[in-house]
Amino acid sequence: MREYLKFYIDGQWVDPVEPKTSDVINPATEEPAGRISMGTAADVNKAVAAARKAFPSWSQTSKAERLEVLKSIQAEYARRQPELGEAIMEEMGAPSSLANGFHVGLGAGHLQTAIEVLEKFEFEQARGAHVLRYEPIGVCGLITPWNWPMNQTCVKVFPALATGCTMILKPPQLASLSAHILAEILDAAGVPAGVFNLVQGSGSVIGTVLSKHEDVDMISFTGSEPVGVQIQKDAADTVKRVGLELGGKSPWIVLDDDQLATNVASATAGMMGNSGQTCSAGSRLLVPNSRMAEAIEAATAAANGVSVGDPRGNFAMGPVVSKGQYNVIQEYIQKGLDEGAQLIAGGLGRPEGLDKGWYVKPTVFVGTNDMVIAREEIFGPVLVIIGYDDADQAVEIANDSPFGLGGYVTGSDVELARSIARRMRTGAIWINNGFDFHAPFGGYKRSGNGREWGDYGFHEYLEIKSMIGF
Ligand code: NAD
Repeated sequence: MREYLKFYIDGQWVDPVEPKTSDVINPATEEPAGRISMGTAADVNKAVAAARKAFPSWSQTSKAERLEVLKSIQAEYARRQPELGEAIMEEMGAPSSLANGFHVGLGAGHLQTAIEVLEKFEFEQARGAHVLRYEPIGVCGLITPWNWPMNQTCVKVFPALATGCTMILKPPQLASLSAHILAEILDAAGVPAGVFNLVQGSGSVIGTVLSKHEDVDMISFTGSEPVGVQIQKDAADTVKRVGLELGGKSPWIVLDDDQLATNVASATAGMMGNSGQTCSAGSRLLVPNSRMAEAIEAATAAANGVSVGDPRGNFAMGPVVSKGQYNVIQEYIQKGLDEGAQLIAGGLGRPEGLDKGWYVKPTVFVGTNDMVIAREEIFGPVLVIIGYDDADQAVEIANDSPFGLGGYVTGSDVELARSIARRMRTGAIWINNGFDFHAPFGGYKRSGNGREWGDYGFHEYLEIKSMIGF
């Protein structure tokens, strides 16, 4: 079992001010995979003081100096990638191929992107009678969720480092092991003391102290909507900037063409990836009413074809992150049944043959957009298929949601897909499964107010200064 009991503060691995620990449970075995320390306000204060002390020099480093540090981290990250994959598999149950593939790969991708953006980024621009200057905002509190641990962490840490900010990372309690390894990577790579600090513990303690802290200039938060709202309130008295990346209920529109069955099948299988625990998952699948029977057949076969089992085995889907998450998902499946949605795959309980571990059946309902299972974020492998009559109605249903994080359109009529993409009220749209590390990512409506990834991810951490008559 991993014992990660020290915090990383001011370039040193230090004991918490008050000794208190918590186990990190492997959701596949329900046994402890590791143990972390649970910090207090005193630990946060030490970390904030270290970050504040490091800010004057780090913020004045040149682009070349920061690029050198980022490249040094890149070499160290590549070396430790297998350990990161193993930790992610243990802490949140991602199948080994996913943990070692996309999970750690996303972290590496954000690092490479930060390097590419920094190489080209103009921190000063002449504009008419003024020079516009971008400056690091200061000491940042980075609060992250458990569902894509390296993705969510690296998409904050590397732009913050690249822009000259100093920071305190507060990882999720459920998936805190990979964050500890990341801190070891930054330490070994020679990040100067105090620039990056790690304090583990509960959100209500560490997160609240960071959000309210007088000496923290900015909070970047990824997580659930209620916690995002609370952080904004906690941060209000100190007028700090708060970047919020929250939940979603993203629509996936399948167009009416000869690829419909294939596109429904890939959308269904995609929904089950990472056990449905993806903020931008296409959890509402919109299909033409005239082709509903075909869509049901394709979705049922695809969901039943998703193999579920031990993350160390050769399965497509592992468990969900925790007992609590398992119970929430079961309640939503029951709610779907109660509100009269048609269950076409999966359902209540664990998949057959799996008696231990927080495994959920890949579940598909056919329902309507007003049902609770179509309006609330379930954060599990549960898909709702909704019928539409024409493109206008598809857009209307897609936009009829409190959230606005992601959206998907698949089909051979690319012009129609583009026109639908333009009308969808979401921060990102993927047309025919495109992907780009430089594309900004963030939400409309209750999905948040921030934009991460690529150059927009830098702006989260930058102040704007006008120098008039320069
Ligand atoms: P969560 O909101 O429960 O926790 C997120 C982080 O906030 C954790 O580190 C937690 O300890 C901390 N926290 C909890 N209470 C806090 C408080 N009062 N003050 C400060 N910090 C506090 O979310 P989760 O369950 O870890 O993650 C799942 C959620 O994250 C889903 O809603 C998902 O959609 C969302 N998410 C969004 C994105 C995005 O980019 N928009 C990406 C991934 C996940």
